[in-house]
Amino acid sequence: MRDEEAVPFFGCPLCAYTGSKHALYDEVMSYVTDNAHRVHLHELVTHVQAALSEHLQIHMTRDRIRQHFISHACEQRVVLNHVLRDMVDILAVAKSNCVVVSEEGMQSMDPKATSVYIDAVKQVMSIYKQLEHKQLEHKQLEHTGRKS
Ligand SMILES: [Zn+2]
Repeated sequence: MRDEEAVPFFGCPLCAYTGSKHALYDEVMSYVTDNAHRVHLHELVTHVQAALSEHLQIHMTRDRIRQHFISHACEQRVVLNHVLRDMVDILAVAKSNCVVVSEEGMQSMDPKATSVYIDAVKQVMSIYKQLEHKQLEHKQLEHTGRKS
């Protein structure tokens, strides 16, 4: 394993650009934050990869770009939306385990699976609440003429 792989943070071009006040770089980064709630990160990364390569001559693999957003930048809206999508998948699995059908065809609830499902729903609701709050903050900043 090369050093670069052992330390994923090492030599990340996007981290190196952060704070550089480069207008185009800032635009690409805001594009991801602004669309995190309606577009899957995989799709956003595809657009970012093309824009970086075409306009800033930064050539990165999609995996490394994704890694930057998830584990380097840790922008709350990007991470929360990413977690939210994972949670929705988990909800579907948890829900499918709640109802147990006996050999006689009788339906009953599995208490443990049901409590896992209800906890997962609560988690999803709290992520939505957090994102709503963040969205409101963002709107207020735009209203006062500042941009986050
Ligand atoms: Zn990075």
